[in-house]
Amino acid sequence: MEHHFYNIVGAERRDGQNCTRVTCPRTGEALWEAPLASKEDLEDAVSSGRASARSWGNASLHIRQNLLRDFALELTAWAKSLSPILARETGKSVSQTKRLCHVGSQRCECSDHLESSQSLDDEVVYEDATVKVVATHMPLGLVAAICPWNFPLVLAMGKIAAALLTGNCVIVKPSPFTPYTTMKVVELALDVFPPGVLQVLHGEADLGRELTIHRSIDKITFTGSTATGKKIMESAAYTLKNMTLELGGNDASIVCDDVNVSAVAHEVAQGCLFHSGQMCVATKRVYVHKSIYEASLRCLVKEFELFITGTPRDTPSIFGPLQNSAQFTIVKELIDDCKARAYRFATGGKVEEGPGLWIQPTIVDRPPDESSIVSEEQFGPITPVLEWETEEEVISRANNTRSGLGACVWSADITRAERISRKLQAGTVWVNSFEKPLPMAYFSGHKDSGVGGEWGRQGLLSYCYTQSLHVYKDNVLTAAEALVLP
Ligand code: NAD
Repeated sequence: MEHHFYNIVGAERRDGQNCTRVTCPRTGEALWEAPLASKEDLEDAVSSGRASARSWGNASLHIRQNLLRDFALELTAWAKSLSPILARETGKSVSQTKRLCHVGSQRCECSDHLESSQSLDDEVVYEDATVKVVATHMPLGLVAAICPWNFPLVLAMGKIAAALLTGNCVIVKPSPFTPYTTMKVVELALDVFPPGVLQVLHGEADLGRELTIHRSIDKITFTGSTATGKKIMESAAYTLKNMTLELGGNDASIVCDDVNVSAVAHEVAQGCLFHSGQMCVATKRVYVHKSIYEASLRCLVKEFELFITGTPRDTPSIFGPLQNSAQFTIVKELIDDCKARAYRFATGGKVEEGPGLWIQPTIVDRPPDESSIVSEEQFGPITPVLEWETEEEVISRANNTRSGLGACVWSADITRAERISRKLQAGTVWVNSFEKPLPMAYFSGHKDSGVGGEWGRQGLLSYCYTQSLHVYKDNVLTAAEALVLP
């Protein structure tokens, strides 16, 4: 089907002299042309965003919430057209992308952000007979949202909804690997928001860098790799920008000895293989207690082997191809490294012939803790399974990394699971569930997995200045009182 994609600058749909074309990861076919934003597009978008920032920031919360709800309705109306585009650019199955686009009555992740009734009200932080101190929240101004390719719509929407709700204008830069749905969604927003409130610019890393050094942009909210996050922190330092960095992870999933082995293996496999492991909080290391290790490994292998590769586009599955050839090569090299070091493959290990960038769901049985497959973020369908004996030991091994994004703990004894969870250095821990981020919960990384965070009420604070207003109640004399003073 033919589609046209535009940079959205102010009220305009802009074409470009240079275009890119993404390859569908599932089928290998070339997709549509997307125009790259020019320097002029960038400058015009910044001017338009700045021009609208004051009026949008001054609009009442009620008006902004209503327009966000209208936007959610607009997206719902267009969901049937958006989900196949999302499927083709990401390689996800259509059944998956329907869920992400909000079809029918099912609530979806991206509309949850938009329909969020969360808001930042003034908070009286102290009051006595003489003084009242109120924390008030003001928008930062113009926000640039730089996004990755794994969940293009949900991750962009979390940033857009929070930034707009708190009174900021936003320029979104999608990943060059997945520009299409974000460009369409922002085009749909032209019918909802005043010009300049929400804009989109398509480009590569150089455009991302331009956004980070631009003097008239107040904040960068970035989701992507830790390596890029470090570059952004450096380049944004020149203009001392406010920033939120949501970075990579290496989530450990700890399985205790008291669980139902097959039920937990089923769930853990979903955590490892959701979007083929291309999720920031995918389960990237599985630690199973020694006493149930062999039985668990057998069950995990059975579960992994249920996910077949090379499925047609409309097969309902959480499993799919690698999204791009760079990521495909990273995972392929990890597999080659495991083979070269003679680690045991419990299942998988095969890189499929094309079309599409398919790699079999793979389990590596007890590689050393210092191996690349355990210590690095694989971002693909290959999981190391490891054995543990004591709580203290497994906590220390799980924490022995610079990553600190998510983790899971599985136990029939919730008190025990919570005790272990509280000792894990991770921004989010799931007890008896694989990783399922909820938009009402603050989401952030510890250590090298991020700076600041977003989502939930606390996440809204990252889009605001807080002003502490100290109001002294009796210090000011009225004009009449002043007149009678000696
Ligand atoms: P990436 O860092 O390669 O790219 C992300 C975005 O940054 C893209 O839009 C890219 O064009 C832009 N970019 C690249 N270089 C830049 C620069 N120097 N200045 C400004 N922008 C630049 O990440 P990716 O490969 O798209 O995404 C995968 C990574 O993202 C994984 O590590 C994953 O764990 C992480 N991730 C984290 C979260 C989270 O919430 N913590 C969520 C999803 C993905």
